Amino acid sequence: MSQTGSYIQIDNVSRRYGSVRALDSVSVDIAKEEFIAILGPSGSGKSTLLRLIAGLDRPTEGRIHFEGEDVTNLPPHKRGIGMVFQEFLLFPHRTVRENLAFPLRMRKEPQSVIDERLEWVAGVLSLTTLLDRYPSQLSGGQQQRVALGRGLVARPTLLLLDEPLANLDRELRQEMEIEIRRYQKQLGIPFIYVTHNQEEALSMSDRIAVINNGRLEALGERQAIYDHPQTPFVARFVGKSSKFQGVVGQDARTVRLARHDYEFTLPAGMTFRAGDAVDIYVKNERFDIALKSEGGAGIPCSVVDVVLRGPFLEYILETDRGDSLIAVKPKRNPLPVQERVLISWKPSECHIFKAGG
Ligand code: ADP
Repeated sequence: MSQTGSYIQIDNVSRRYGSVRALDSVSVDIAKEEFIAILGPSGSGKSTLLRLIAGLDRPTEGRIHFEGEDVTNLPPHKRGIGMVFQEFLLFPHRTVRENLAFPLRMRKEPQSVIDERLEWVAGVLSLTTLLDRYPSQLSGGQQQRVALGRGLVARPTLLLLDEPLANLDRELRQEMEIEIRRYQKQLGIPFIYVTHNQEEALSMSDRIAVINNGRLEALGERQAIYDHPQTPFVARFVGKSSKFQGVVGQDARTVRLARHDYEFTLPAGMTFRAGDAVDIYVKNERFDIALKSEGGAGIPCSVVDVVLRGPFLEYILETDRGDSLIAVKPKRNPLPVQERVLISWKPSECHIFKAGG
């Protein structure tokens, strides 16, 4: 089924390996010029999905279309796809120029085309001054740019990226996240980016497809995935949060925590029945912290440690019942270790699901 405006259609795609359902009826439509992240834990089926899109594997069921054309049985080299992997896979004894030219030589492109493409890709990725170096003479970020260049040099209609930043240190990874997003916007082709790292997915993509146990758990704009998780798995997996257990009150409008003396109003639009057991997730940066000495409602805690995280402070807290909590706050008016505090949240700042999800 093709939808107007979508460039790539993945329709009810499944892949079984014997009794293992690596992918189970996954459907995603991807627009041209869209950056989409496939996010999930290890073993969730992300690479399987990428391999099916690339044509390196065939689905057991379902179809894949590119621009309306059914490519389900088309071999990889006929799909017009570029790929970038976690291992840069650069040839150590070839220069950057020859590494970049490799996909074009494989396709037996004439030298004039190779020269023109090399000039283009080296310009886009700022590699012009590095063309005569060998990979060992490049920094990690430069090697990554060459690997990207090799994925792009044949001017693909789509770029697939499989955890390409996993081997870089944190600072470089953050720089590359910004660069990769900029290249995608500049080139105007879809990037499909597989990662288990939610920070990467959130910083780069337009939309995120969350995969869990081979199933599409959620698909949406990154902000919506972060702010309004529709399933407990997404609430746990995207962002850093704490989980509480609670019971819906007799009025069906309030929730009381099971282990703490704290009650709050159900968020607007959420309907549960009186007595329902629920799980409550609150992102670490959404907690309100008040001094216990000032009174009010909340979970009584002590500040156990304070960790500096750039412009933020991470308060390591222990509730009076002995549970650990983390609350993230701007650096203003820091609280000292051992301070007694009350932790609470606004109803709109938590996510509630039936218990056990
Ligand atoms: P991810 O990329 O999210 O780590 P994969 O797509 O590699 O996950 O794997 C999804 C599931 O399919 C896993 O349970 C994995 O063990 C299984 N799987 C993947 N490839 C094969 C294969 N060739 N044979 C058997 N099982 C496989």
